[in-house]
Amino acid sequence: MFIDTHAHIYLDSFKNEYEDIVDRALSANVGRILMPNIDLDSIKQVMSLHDLFPQTCLPMVGLHPCSVKENYQVILDDLLSYLDDKACIAVGEIGIDLYWDTSFEYEQEAAFRQQILWSKERALPIVIHSRASIDRTIDIVTELQDGSLKGVFHCFSESISEAKRIMDIGFYMGIGGVSTFKKNESFRKTLKEIPLRSLLLETDAPYLTPAPFRGKRNESSYIPYIAQVIADTKTIDIETIEVTTTENAVKLFSLNIEEET
Ligand SMILES: [Zn+2]
Repeated sequence: MFIDTHAHIYLDSFKNEYEDIVDRALSANVGRILMPNIDLDSIKQVMSLHDLFPQTCLPMVGLHPCSVKENYQVILDDLLSYLDDKACIAVGEIGIDLYWDTSFEYEQEAAFRQQILWSKERALPIVIHSRASIDRTIDIVTELQDGSLKGVFHCFSESISEAKRIMDIGFYMGIGGVSTFKKNESFRKTLKEIPLRSLLLETDAPYLTPAPFRGKRNESSYIPYIAQVIADTKTIDIETIEVTTTENAVKLFSLNIEEET
């Protein structure tokens, strides 16, 4: 079984198709879909999709850095009750994104630190979104790593020096469609050097659709295409990619897949 460790399949672009999306994922042997919300509105969609598919679609709760505004403290307070829902398997996605807008830079970092604290109090893993901020994000996690913190840098596409820093603090890297793009030969060279024990698979659906489906909406059933590119890059068979990345995800998110394997 594959696991899609990061997918926004609860969004409106999938509306009225939830059953088909999950069916196609299961047919492609993608047995778990981990769903990070983005803000206070989307958490309701995440939870209702989890209610529809309680075993397959699992909720994660956090405030996305692009949703951090001046009122972030109020939103964080409102998110807490969802975080304490027993179905919630991680705090995410959280982090720093300075790509489009830097006006809430200070607030983004404060919200990130606050949510890392929450994850520690609950012994939950964190799912990190970092854009135009990778070194700063790694610095913060390194500073707060006391041995209890665990998580993943989602959508990893940086160089080997960042990968090494991430491995040094015991974190995973989420690999998605970006690794399949033709122009990203240099990232595949990096990927070759990162041991499989540090990798997770993710689609980030509906975004970042892998080749050969670029231009179409992304969905969890495309996970095997990402796995195949990693397999080809590392010249390992795809079954090993499947088994190891699923073991990694089960360990990080404390998933129960026993009855299905
Ligand atoms: Zn995401």
